Amino acid sequence: MPKDFLKGAADEYDVVVIGSGLGGLTAANILARDGMKVMLAEQHYKLGGLATWFKRPGGHIFDISLHGFPHGMVKSCRRYWSKEIADSIVQLEGVRFDNPMFSLTTSFDRKDFTQLLVSQFGIEEQKVNEFFDMARGMNFYDDQSLTTGQLFEKFFPGREDVVRLLMEPITYANGSTLEDPAITYGIVFSNFMSKGVFVFQGGTDKLVKAMEKEMKANGVDVRINCDVESINVGADGVQSVVINGRTIKAKTVVSNANLRSTIFKLIGEDKFDAGFIDDAKAVRLNNSSTQVYMAMHPDDTVPRETGDLLFSSTAERFQTDLLLSRDITSRTFSFYYPNTRPEGKERTLIVSSTNAKYEDWAGLSKEEYEASKADLVETTLDALEKYVPNARERIVHAEAATPLTFEHYTKHLDGASFGTKFEGLTVSRALPDQIPGLYHAGSCGIIMSGWLGTINYGVIVANDVINYISSSAATSPVSTS
Ligand SMILES: Cc1cc2nc3c(=O)[nH]c(=O)nc-3n(C[C@H](O)[C@H](O)[C@H](O)COP(=O)(O)OP(=O)(O)OC[C@H]3O[C@@H](n4cnc5c(N)ncnc54)[C@H](O)[C@@H]3O)c2cc1C
Repeated sequence: MPKDFLKGAADEYDVVVIGSGLGGLTAANILARDGMKVMLAEQHYKLGGLATWFKRPGGHIFDISLHGFPHGMVKSCRRYWSKEIADSIVQLEGVRFDNPMFSLTTSFDRKDFTQLLVSQFGIEEQKVNEFFDMARGMNFYDDQSLTTGQLFEKFFPGREDVVRLLMEPITYANGSTLEDPAITYGIVFSNFMSKGVFVFQGGTDKLVKAMEKEMKANGVDVRINCDVESINVGADGVQSVVINGRTIKAKTVVSNANLRSTIFKLIGEDKFDAGFIDDAKAVRLNNSSTQVYMAMHPDDTVPRETGDLLFSSTAERFQTDLLLSRDITSRTFSFYYPNTRPEGKERTLIVSSTNAKYEDWAGLSKEEYEASKADLVETTLDALEKYVPNARERIVHAEAATPLTFEHYTKHLDGASFGTKFEGLTVSRALPDQIPGLYHAGSCGIIMSGWLGTINYGVIVANDVINYISSSAATSPVSTS
């Protein structure tokens, strides 16, 4: 008999949250804290979605997406999770750029960037201040016709080097391009510039375990290996979900799965207005990523001056489409020193990330796919030699992940690393108008992606659900006693 991962589950919940990415985890926690009866159903055997980790023999623990996030995480984690979680957030000391146009190290905040732009790039201080003020003043309700490329042209015409400094990390951070609305750049850039780049000390395993403990203490019924097959909808809205073949009633559903899978796979287009479906079909998925996870010999490490986050590129010019090319010229190296996991084994790990297109990996035969992965590892080791001499001899474990890996583990269509492009946010927000009780909280719209964006989106959506359930439209909550 296969194990019943729903053993002991109730027949009905106020909210079923589908998926345990940071958005789903946060929504579930807030809803349970508010007294709702919540089930969190995750199809994978581990929680965290893209914010997860894996272990390899030799005591190596790799984090999938712990490269850096803005300081805003401290406030969000303190308010919506716990002081313990917030207190483990630490700043990255060295962010480095190395490309044919410039090489520099920065604390990646407004003060240091202003100094760099003025002294190294020769830009007038007033211009720099005006740019920062405009970026910081942007919000979702602004004019969306101005593109990021136009924003740069307005302030720094013809300065490709400046654009590279300002844009390369953000393209890496959320996949946005010069053609995307400027607000997607301005909001994310300003979030980082407020204080710099931060990570979670202790690793994703410590973070997700702390989140699980907190959720359980608040009463969330946490279920792993629970694949939600469909969301059933009646005339009045959401009715139930089908998980591992069992139907569970739900007053509301928060889907943390990819927005497009939520609409087209879990529900079906016939349940929505035709106009909404046209908009949903027009939502573009974000790009995916390749990663190479490398572990140094346990007795070996690299000097701290190597940096924490290194944006390296061999491309003469900065072009966002080049960042997606199979012919890799740009790699972002994250260096994880032993203090990443102060309580763990002394290990130095290096992860190389590159934005990637799903279609470059999807059509390959098994042999071609394995060969491409091996090639990715080899070329990455070559590139690493510049920063870690004799890297090839010093790395004792190296393996690659591709868009197919991300698709496999999270079910994100095309292995999208940041959900959907900008237009996804409006569609995500409109779901409850189409089907009462149906919500989506997960990477979408660039702004609501990344660690901070998805946590904050989980908060926003949890509040929407609380308002909906407590309004007269919904019947009284299912008792949690
Ligand atoms: C390689 C990489 C590096 C990154 N680096 C950074 C970084 O340094 N900083 C940063 O801020 N962001 C980074 N990101 C982005 C960040 O990790 C994501 O934006 C964020 O973690 C996504 O959270 P989410 O809530 O949207 O859910 P996801 O993490 O996308 O999780 C969705 C969950 O839903 C589950 N699910 C899907 N369908 C079903 C179903 N039918 N039934 C049950 N469960 C289901 C999946 O298994 C998954 O657990 C990175 C992403 C990648 C891929």
